[in-house]
Amino acid sequence: MAPDQIDGTGHFVAVIGGATAGAEVASRLADKGVQVFVFEQNARPYGKIEDGLPRWHVALRNKEYGVIDEKLQKDGVTFVPSTKIGRDVDFKELVEDWGFSAVVLANGAWRDRPVPVEGADAYIGKGLVYQNPFVIAFNHAERGDMPDAKYELHDGAIILGGGLASIDVAKIHTLQRTVEELAKRGIESDVEELEIKGIPKILEKHGLTWEELGITPPTIYYRRRIEDMPVMSAPEGADEARLKKVEAGRVRMVGKSTSKYLFNIEPLSAPDSLIIEDGRLTGIVFRRTKIENGRVVKLDETYEVRGPTIISSIGSIPEAIPGIEMNGELFDFQDWDLGRLEGYPTVFSVGNVVTGKGNIVASRKHASAVSEAAIEAYLGIGEGDRDAAIGTLAATGAAETVAGVLDALGDAEPPSEDIRKALLERIGKLHEKVGFTDYASWMKKVGAPW
Ligand SMILES: Cc1cc2nc3c(=O)[nH]c(=O)nc-3n(C[C@H](O)[C@H](O)[C@H](O)COP(=O)(O)OP(=O)(O)OC[C@H]3O[C@@H](n4cnc5c(N)ncnc54)[C@H](O)[C@@H]3O)c2cc1C
Repeated sequence: MAPDQIDGTGHFVAVIGGATAGAEVASRLADKGVQVFVFEQNARPYGKIEDGLPRWHVALRNKEYGVIDEKLQKDGVTFVPSTKIGRDVDFKELVEDWGFSAVVLANGAWRDRPVPVEGADAYIGKGLVYQNPFVIAFNHAERGDMPDAKYELHDGAIILGGGLASIDVAKIHTLQRTVEELAKRGIESDVEELEIKGIPKILEKHGLTWEELGITPPTIYYRRRIEDMPVMSAPEGADEARLKKVEAGRVRMVGKSTSKYLFNIEPLSAPDSLIIEDGRLTGIVFRRTKIENGRVVKLDETYEVRGPTIISSIGSIPEAIPGIEMNGELFDFQDWDLGRLEGYPTVFSVGNVVTGKGNIVASRKHASAVSEAAIEAYLGIGEGDRDAAIGTLAATGAAETVAGVLDALGDAEPPSEDIRKALLERIGKLHEKVGFTDYASWMKKVGAPW
């Protein structure tokens, strides 16, 4: 693309992260004549669709791969794969020197929240495993395209968690172990079939019982009650009666899951200290808790649990990017509607990195709302229903936030021809470095799922 042959608005926008949220913003902006450059750290752009959702979600994964592929192949979208912002390209430079009218962070949450017990991380690989690498290794094991990523299954695993992802970690254990035990008895099965039908039904079909398989299931230790497990969310401003219904729904959902996949849950238990033997983490001392006015209160009672492995699945947080201030575990956002950062007025954030919600639809909706409510208006290309988009940004005061931001920013000026030329040269160099020519050939080369 020659810089003097740019059609459309003349605006160039960078998007960091090519998955659900990033592809959504890129596609929306490209439809309105913006040239969008999507920087993705991995070779493939699918983010948590490929490396989060466990691989038994075959139909959903394929559908979402297709959605992302279509968006990233649109005219006006340029994919820049295997390029990590903060490692291969400096974030501050990208925002301030490259000449983009706006930069959108869509980089998700790829770091595991650390186990809240002092010194625990010293035992990573020595009894302690974190959820993100565990699920990534499980998902790639069958395909064999990440030979260095290994996951091990141990009967009686201790799982720290309580959310949907920790239930997936427990299911990976019971489903895969059942496949293995059935194979020993000459019965072929797979995790997809077991996940759909549930373990008891398949065992019944073969005249077997769970006890006969001899698998000790994993246990999820959760610091709150089953009623509080975030497997179903309560609507904003729900009254007492509605909350009770949601709680009952959670208990039903979790009960269905434990009876179909045969793992255990021990509620009201918070990790308190580590049990270390011969330099390995071999167990956890839990402290009993109670819930008072919605808060976790730690009690005097403690109890010890030993297990062959401890998998922590207590949430994912954004990976730090040099140049972006942190506030504890999270980016130091000025506001949680548009994900704006102090000192970077042209940066917006979309999806999981700012919503903190591990949910495909929530990431896509947030990306679309931020684009419509703010980015498109700032670039002077908005024509949709901005009020509705502001309404989608859930936090109260979103309208004032958006108005304030737009007033402060003024109207974006497209980059000059010289700046565009320099920017395209930089992109060309990055493409050359990784061997990228076009999306379809690149994806074939790096093992597209299609
Ligand atoms: C175990 C598990 C099970 C789940 N199950 C479900 C489910 O059943 N249903 C559901 O709706 N959701 C589920 N989710 C959550 C869902 O997959 C995610 O919330 C959603 O896909 C997030 O989309 P996103 O685009 O916001 O972020 P991501 O998918 O995380 O995308 C961020 C992208 O940015 C890239 N990136 C990160 N840092 C950089 C950088 N510095 N430079 C360049 N690129 C970068 C990443 O590689 C990634 O491609 C699950 C998640 C997990 C972990």
